[in-house]
Amino acid sequence: MKRLLLTLLICLSGVSTFAQGYSDKITLVIHGGAGTITRANMSPEREKAYREALNTALETGYDVLKKGGTSVQAVEAAIHVMEDSPLFNAGKGAVFTNEGKNELDAAIMEGKTLKAGAVAGVTTIKNPISAAIAVMDQSAHVMMAGKGAELFAKEKGLEIVDPSYFYTEARYKALERAKEQEKTELDHNGKEENGDKRGTGKPDVKKAPRTGYYPAEDLIFTEGKKFGTVGCVALDKYGNLAAGTSTGGMTNKRYGRIGDAPIIGAGTYANNATCAVSATGHGEYFIRSVVAHDISALMEYKGMPLSEAANEVVMKKLVERGGEGGVIAVDRNGNVAMPFNSEGMYRGYIKSDGKREILIYKD
Ligand code: ASP
Repeated sequence: MKRLLLTLLICLSGVSTFAQGYSDKITLVIHGGAGTITRANMSPEREKAYREALNTALETGYDVLKKGGTSVQAVEAAIHVMEDSPLFNAGKGAVFTNEGKNELDAAIMEGKTLKAGAVAGVTTIKNPISAAIAVMDQSAHVMMAGKGAELFAKEKGLEIVDPSYFYTEARYKALERAKEQEKTELDHNGKEENGDKRGTGKPDVKKAPRTGYYPAEDLIFTEGKKFGTVGCVALDKYGNLAAGTSTGGMTNKRYGRIGDAPIIGAGTYANNATCAVSATGHGEYFIRSVVAHDISALMEYKGMPLSEAANEVVMKKLVERGGEGGVIAVDRNGNVAMPFNSEGMYRGYIKSDGKREILIYKD
């Protein structure tokens, strides 16, 4: 009799579990940046290091989902691994601004509640994705910037570090090369295009009305066009989606420049009705094309399947507008899309049916 009752109880809880929308399709997808990533410019050691780091991030995030954690918790765990690795342009290993500083951006969005949180231009928060989650969960706001965001993170007990924590020699050298490249191009402009025979390197200000001294396209140098931002999207067993992105932005950025990563709808977006998206690439283009929300909107308003919607935005719209980069996305059925229009994108996923991949190049 006791056993019968127990069986009945288990059956009933199974039914109610199903009724609440539990999913057996837990899925985790990550990216570690897109850009000029080719076999020709990758050494076997470097490739191994990236694969290992991506694998650890994937396993860490997926483990959270497997143990019944939420999609937000899984996204945070996976992103922590990449923020703590110097290989990626997020947390430790972030790129340098023109002034030689590291200014970090991050965002999170929860598909069930449409709640979101973001921090921008922070310099002392060890794991900016956790600060974004704190903004979402523990404040009345969506985005906090600079000193205020840092104060808030400290008050919430997050780990605060000296700005020197973010320094890596490789990224500093990248800044030096970017500045060198900028100088060469400005000298070139000065001589050839502005008829400046003395070669002062000062471009014609009339040619750059919006930015003043520099032509707009010279403002940010991508240093070999590698965008190393990290991101994660996940579907948990409760059927809820989440998306998170964390970045140091772009090498040689200036004037407090903020990219697409912390802007909800541009670099990060999640909605249980459609999908969760995290982007990487030349942020200015992703902001102007509202990339992440655009993918969701195509699904919502046009009924497009995930991969078609993601391709439409990344492979058509962005390409037409000259925006280089890619996205990772997952829908509520566990379908995954990872389109990019650059030469490569560090990316990978694990699905509940055991399917998993870690990919870097186009082919
Ligand atoms: N999207 C980032 C930004 O523009 C850069 C990146 O993806 O690495 O800030």
